[in-house]
Amino acid sequence: MPLVIAIDGPAASGKGTLAKRLADHYGLPHLDTGLLYRAVALALIDAGLPLEDQAAAGQAARDLDAGKLDDPRLRERAMGEAASRISAVPAVRAGLLAWQRRFATDPQGAVLDGRDIGTVVCPEAGVKLYITASSEERARRRHRELAGRGEAASFAAILADIEARDARDASRAAAPLRMADDAVRLDTTDLDADAAFDEARAIVERARGDAA
Ligand code: C5P
Repeated sequence: MPLVIAIDGPAASGKGTLAKRLADHYGLPHLDTGLLYRAVALALIDAGLPLEDQAAAGQAARDLDAGKLDDPRLRERAMGEAASRISAVPAVRAGLLAWQRRFATDPQGAVLDGRDIGTVVCPEAGVKLYITASSEERARRRHRELAGRGEAASFAAILADIEARDARDASRAAAPLRMADDAVRLDTTDLDADAAFDEARAIVERARGDAA
C-alpha cells in the first residue's frame, strides 16, 4: 500500500518543514499545496487583475503551470495574505483539486501539506497529522524566517497577519481549516524542529503499525 501522509495546520505551524523532513525520511514526493494557492494569487497580480475577480481566479487555478512553483515571490508575506483571499473562492479550490489528487496517487505514495488535505484532498490518507502551535510562537518563527530572508516586518504586524489568516481560513464556507476526525494533533509550541520531527515520525510509525 502506498504511504500517503496528509498534513494540515494553521499558518507558520511548522507543517511545511515537517512535511519535507517526513518526505525525505520515507523517500516520498512532497507537495506544499499552499504554493498552489500562492501561485494563483501571483498569476492574477501579474495579469493586473484584482484578487476579487472570482472568474479570473478560477481560470488561473485551472491554468496553473506547476513548473512555476519555484518563483521566490511566492514565499513573500504579502503572497500568503493574497493566497488566503483567493483560496475562499470555490472555483479556485475545485480548479486545484484534481491536480493535488493526481499528485497524491503517485504509486510510491506522497506527503501533502495544507489546510484541507486530510478533510478534502486525501480523506483516505493512511496517516493524518494536524500540526499546530500558539499564535505567538508561530509569529516568532515567521518573524525569524522573514528576517533571515531580509524581509523586514514587525513582530506585531506578523502576529496580526497570522491571526487574521487563521480566522479567514477557519471561517470560509469552502473547505475551511479543520482537523480531520481521524487526524492526530501535534502541538509544536514547546518543541524544536528535531523534537517535532521525532514526534511526527512516531505518529506515522504508529499509524502504519495499526494499518498493518
Ligand atoms: O500554507 P501557506 O501559508 O503557503 O498557504 C497560503 C494560503 O493558502 C493559506 O492561508 C490558505 O488560505 C490557502 N491554502 C488553502 N488550502 C490549502 C493550502 C493553502 O486554502 N490546502
